This record gives sequence, C-alpha cells and structure tokens, in this order.
Amino acid sequence: MSELCYASMSDVAKRLQQKDVSVLEVVQSCLDRIEKTEPVLHALLARNAEGAITKARELDASGPDRSKPLWGVPVTIKDVILTKGLPTTAGSKMLEKFSPPYNAFVTDKLLDAGAVVLAKANMDEFAMGSSTENSAYYPTNNPWNPKKVPGGSSGGSAASVAAGQCFASLGTDTGGSIRQPASFCGCVGLKPTYGRVSRYGVIAYASSLDQVGPLTRSVEDCARVLQVIAGHDERDQTSSPRPVPDYVTGLGRRKGLDGVRLGIPQEFLGEGISSEVREVFEDVRIRAEKEGARISLVSLPHTKAAIATYYILAMAEASSNLARYDGVRFGFRASESRELLDLYVRSRSEGLGEEVRRRIMLGAFVLSSGYYDAYFKRAAQVRRIIRDEFTRVLQECDALLAPVSPVAAWDHGSNANDPLAQYLMDAYTLSLNLAGLPGLSLPAGLGKESGMPIGVQLIGKAFFEEDLLAVGHALERILPSIGNPSM
Ligand code: GLN
Repeated sequence: MSELCYASMSDVAKRLQQKDVSVLEVVQSCLDRIEKTEPVLHALLARNAEGAITKARELDASGPDRSKPLWGVPVTIKDVILTKGLPTTAGSKMLEKFSPPYNAFVTDKLLDAGAVVLAKANMDEFAMGSSTENSAYYPTNNPWNPKKVPGGSSGGSAASVAAGQCFASLGTDTGGSIRQPASFCGCVGLKPTYGRVSRYGVIAYASSLDQVGPLTRSVEDCARVLQVIAGHDERDQTSSPRPVPDYVTGLGRRKGLDGVRLGIPQEFLGEGISSEVREVFEDVRIRAEKEGARISLVSLPHTKAAIATYYILAMAEASSNLARYDGVRFGFRASESRELLDLYVRSRSEGLGEEVRRRIMLGAFVLSSGYYDAYFKRAAQVRRIIRDEFTRVLQECDALLAPVSPVAAWDHGSNANDPLAQYLMDAYTLSLNLAGLPGLSLPAGLGKESGMPIGVQLIGKAFFEEDLLAVGHALERILPSIGNPSM
C-alpha cells in the first residue's frame, strides 16, 4: 500500500502546497486504494474517479494556492449531502436516479477550499440507522473486520477514512451518526453545535437535530475541515451568525490536560455497557487523571428518558420531512397505479425501505390528534429538561467525558431484526443532539474481546468547538495509538 494514503491530511495538504507531491499522485494513490479495498468494504456509492483525475490535472496545472486550505486533498462525502452532477441518493431507492442541480453549502465550501471529491459514501437510508445495513444498495463492511458493521448511519464515510481511501469525509449526525461510526472504525468524528454548520442542501432526516461534521484520522485534521465548513449561511435559518474562531490555532490553547475539568456522567456507565468498553473507558480516565485532568462524576438524571424522547421527535420530524417523496415531485415512481392515492401509496411502499416506513408511520402516529399531547408535546418538554441538565453540569466542567457506544462494532445481521435493540445502542450519543451540543469522538483503544476499535467522547459547551478540539488534541496525545486496519 502506498504510504501516502495513511499520511495525515494536514501533512499532505502542506506537501501539496510545497509541490513536494502532485495532486495527481495523491489522488491516484487514493483511487488505487479504493480499487484495492472496495471489493471488500463497499463503503462508496457513486464514484467520481474521472472527475477527480481531471480536477487533479487542472489543479496541478494552475499550481498551489495558499488561500485554499484543502488544496488538492481527496475527500469523500456522505450521500445525504448534495453534490451537483454527482448522484445523491441518501442511501435510498427513492432517490436512485437523483442527480442534484446544485451543491450543498458544505460541498461548495470543500470545493472552494480546493478539495477533490472522490466519491459519495454509503449510509443507512435517509440516515436512519446505526450500522449502514439499512442502505438500499448494500451494507458496508468494517475495515478492521469485514464481518462487522462499520456503525452508522455515516458508516461509508468512517470506513473510507479508516481504510485510507481518502483523507477526510463529511458525515451527518442526528443522534450519533458521525461519532458512533468513527468509534467503530477507529477514526475521529465531530458533531458540531447545532447551527454551526449550514444544513442547506443536506437531505433532511430530523431538522432540529441534524448537523454535518468531519470524519478524519486526527483531531488536527478534524479542526482543519471544521474550519472550512463552519460559518453563517442565510439559506439555513438555523445557521448561527456567530463568528468562526480559528480552530487550528486554537488547538494549542491547552498545553495538555493539566487542570482541565472533565465530568463523567454517571448515568452513561450503568447497565448495558460491555466490559471491554468499560475497560477502555477506565483506561482513558486513568491516563487523563495522571496528566493532571480534574475528573469528577456528574449526574444527568433524565438520560433514561433520552432514547424515547429522541425517537419520538426524530420520527415525528422524519414523517414530515419525508412527505415530499410522493412519487410525483421527487425520485422513484411506481410503474402501475390506478389513481392518485394509489400512486402515492405504491411509490412510497416500493421506494422506501422497511426502517424508513416504520419511522414515518410512528412519526405520523405521535403527531396525530389525540396522541400529540401524550407523545410529541411531552417529548418536546423532556428535551428542554435534558438540555437544561447539560447546561447545568457544563457550568462546572470544561467538557464531559463519556463512552460513545455501549458496545464495539457488532456482527452483520446480529441486530438487524430488532430495531429496538439498535435504538438502545444510541444511549450515549443522542442526548447531546437533543441539547444541541458539540461532541467529539476519538479512538481510545482496541477491545480485548472483539479486537475492534473503541472510542471515547468529549462533550462541550454550545459553540465552544475551539476548546473542545483543544481538549481533544491534548487527550489524543495520551491515548494509545490503535494504528490502521491491515487490509
Ligand atoms: N441511530 C440513530 C437513528 O437511527 C442516529 C442516526 C443519525 O444520527 N443519523 O436515528
């Protein structure tokens, strides 16, 4: 394998600027890696090899541009993010033939920064799932062990980064879909504060929770990608006008973990956590303490209500967002139908997968008159309580330290027929989406039983990504390196 593929993005970006290596060489090494690994991984949907080579030649001909921080850097993009002229399916048969007429805000930002898009990354249909097994096309395999799932819903993004197919990928996180696959595949994933990154051109799942973020192989690379995609966008009304700090320079603002106050939510270490995840987490705690971090247990008493709250709200929003796929205006249309209602029913029944249909039905139910007060309204109230609890504990800490998932990557098929079992696995990730807070997942070790990567999560204050990344950068240095998968 060419060494280049596993170089850090920050190094490669520097070498490209210095013309120490050409864009074509870098792009070609990633394309070779894709050729070699895709027959096993299935991490990618639409590929853009020709477009990438053409772009690489153009960039090499015009020469490095210092104003473009990702000049010549190959990336992949989750297939829920619109890419003009490159098919965007959201992992659904419903959008099989959809080629967007415009780019998402984040796609434009990457291109403006000089990045080269190699492919779209596989995902659970409409970002609903935790294993990428809900993709309408094929499941993605974990580069550490193809019998295991890569996590989800951004499983294709995480697998492509971990396997050295690209230097960074964009994912989306509604209830953990960046952080959990990052943890399962052994890479770094950041879910930014709600409103930090524009959702314009991102196919909606649950709009009050969805957020785009980077998956990379280091915290520094993550800061560099966030720097490019963060910022105000008037086309997303929830986009924040707050100025974007310099995340890369900010990495140096913590000279280590000395004196950093980390709170561990005690509710995240209870029942259901596997012994190998507990062990890795305990090791992280001891290492951090040795480096001078001040660690305390904190309490988020409503954690037990978070899963129910999240799934009620996410399904309600999904049922409304996905109403547009009616067989008339977008995407798939059933070939035989008798009249209009029949066309809607057939198109939605045939074009949408089982999990998506389940969520639309449950979402419509919790919004229906007679049940709205009991479910939707209550969930919205509990969401507020959860947010207030986070705000309270974050007043006394710099960040919270927690596991990402109660288990390491599971075997394909093992949870596939039990949606509730999968929903329960999201216990440690989804509550901060409800609170709108940023969360950073870092690889922390390999599980003793499974041999699979296990991540740890830092949760920060709203819009304090600068400090969250700085603490993550300091923590990363003291965690054991898990290396790269041998494939
Ligand atoms: N697993 C969660 C769900 O299925 C989260 C998915 C996501 O973050 N997009 O809803």
